[in-house]
Amino acid sequence: MQTLIEHARTFPEKISDQQDEFAQLVQGQQPQALFISCSDSRVIPALFTGARPGDLFELRTAGNIVPPYRSQAACGVAGSLEFAVQALQVPDIVVCGHSHCGAVQGLMREQNVATMPLVRHWLSRAGHRTRTDEPWQTQGLGEDPTPVTQEHVLTQLDHLRGYPFIARRLSSGRLRLHAWYYTVETGEVLAAGPGRRAFKPL
Ligand code: ZN
Repeated sequence: MQTLIEHARTFPEKISDQQDEFAQLVQGQQPQALFISCSDSRVIPALFTGARPGDLFELRTAGNIVPPYRSQAACGVAGSLEFAVQALQVPDIVVCGHSHCGAVQGLMREQNVATMPLVRHWLSRAGHRTRTDEPWQTQGLGEDPTPVTQEHVLTQLDHLRGYPFIARRLSSGRLRLHAWYYTVETGEVLAAGPGRRAFKPL
């Protein structure tokens, strides 16, 4: 933790040669995209997208899960989505899954999260049944976590389409959805093209 504290303490000094760029940020924000990714410490969207302050409105949840829409839900994810789409009018939303995701492993093997009831409850919002309810193999996904993780990303995109304010902007062509998959050991980003379920290099 100490290295983080030291870096934060000297941060104003480190950016002193970028004063103009940072001063502009007080004018407001118009991010290029809402970027939904996992809380995993190995996934740093600004690192692999090259995003600068103001470029990405980030929403990070365990397993980049977007719960299905419920009109009365007091949910931090839903509130962040509404703000990004309604107030900031982001033109693009990316859901970015990643390799070696603990949440996906928990979805595949419920015993991994047996002692964490809150995690189990959160994973139940992912739109999949856990292995004990209905094995993933029955859906033809097998044991390899990569296609499972990619399918998981596409499921979260389906959930996004269920939010009325997102559906409206999609139908009027003012919003695009993107499915990404980040490989932590290589830094490679794969994406599923519009209407496609196969992930290919960007
Ligand atoms: Zn993860």
